[in-house]
Amino acid sequence: MWKAFNLSWDLLVMSENPKQYNAHLKLMKRDFHTVPEAIEYVEQSWLGPYKERFVAAWTDKVMHLGNYTSNRAECAHGKLKNHLGSSQCNFARLWEQIDKLINLQITELKGTFERDLSCWQHEFRIHLLDDIRGVVSKEAMRMIIKKANEVEILVASNRACECSIRRTHGLPCSHEIAPFKIDNKPLPLSIVHDHWKKLFLVAPAKDPSITETVKADWDIFFRRLQGTTEEQQRHMMNKFKEFVHPECTSLVEPEQKARGRGRPKKDQISNSTRRLPSEFEYVEASVSTPKPVKEKLRRKPKNQESNLYSSRPCKV
Ligand SMILES: [Zn+2]
Repeated sequence: MWKAFNLSWDLLVMSENPKQYNAHLKLMKRDFHTVPEAIEYVEQSWLGPYKERFVAAWTDKVMHLGNYTSNRAECAHGKLKNHLGSSQCNFARLWEQIDKLINLQITELKGTFERDLSCWQHEFRIHLLDDIRGVVSKEAMRMIIKKANEVEILVASNRACECSIRRTHGLPCSHEIAPFKIDNKPLPLSIVHDHWKKLFLVAPAKDPSITETVKADWDIFFRRLQGTTEEQQRHMMNKFKEFVHPECTSLVEPEQKARGRGRPKKDQISNSTRRLPSEFEYVEASVSTPKPVKEKLRRKPKNQESNLYSSRPCKV
């Protein structure tokens, strides 16, 4: 009973819009009409005065990036208290302990960032994440995969996307992912909020020489563009657009033929006894000019010779 009530409460709190909230509340009242005291309590003490503060239909209007509660601050406070051990210490000791704690947190954060940059589980190795893998955090990729899995449900139900994850986390929602998934294209990096791309504590310094080189290359490109025909200009601009808007490119990754396990089948094994050509033979074959085909000399059959002899006049 309690488990079912808890489940119903969770559904109510996670309602994505007021309409869904009313439907869930109606369902809750119907399922638990035998315990009117409980319904009365949640309605009068929580939902009535505070629903705007914790039900998703009202809280998911702002970008909170997953910070629903003050847990982070409380957790840091708790850690500090554990680290200090006692409130009876002087300023020097306090400074030393806080410094140690911060250094520990920095090490932990660096470890997390390193794992986000280089180690990915199997679930993240999909074509859809090719352009964002290793650039955004694992948590963001996990949420994107979840939304990508909901695309089929959204299409089948023919209902409008709530776009809540875009509002609250700055991540693509199901309706944004759908065209990329259907066309089998990777999601562009621009679709993810900058918050999820911060995988370093100190921003790496920009190399000014790279900016200068790009500027010089751009000037050359622009001059060449001006001195070409209209068709060439179109071709160059198409190539340029592929870099600027990678999500619009028509190029797809070539499919790799999956090789099954075990030894190859009998009909796949070559029975030829001819040796494989050496590398120099490959090179010679590619470099040498084709020779004119010589007509093969025909050997006269023996019976023809015998006919010739036989046709000679006999000397008597
Ligand atoms: Zn949406």
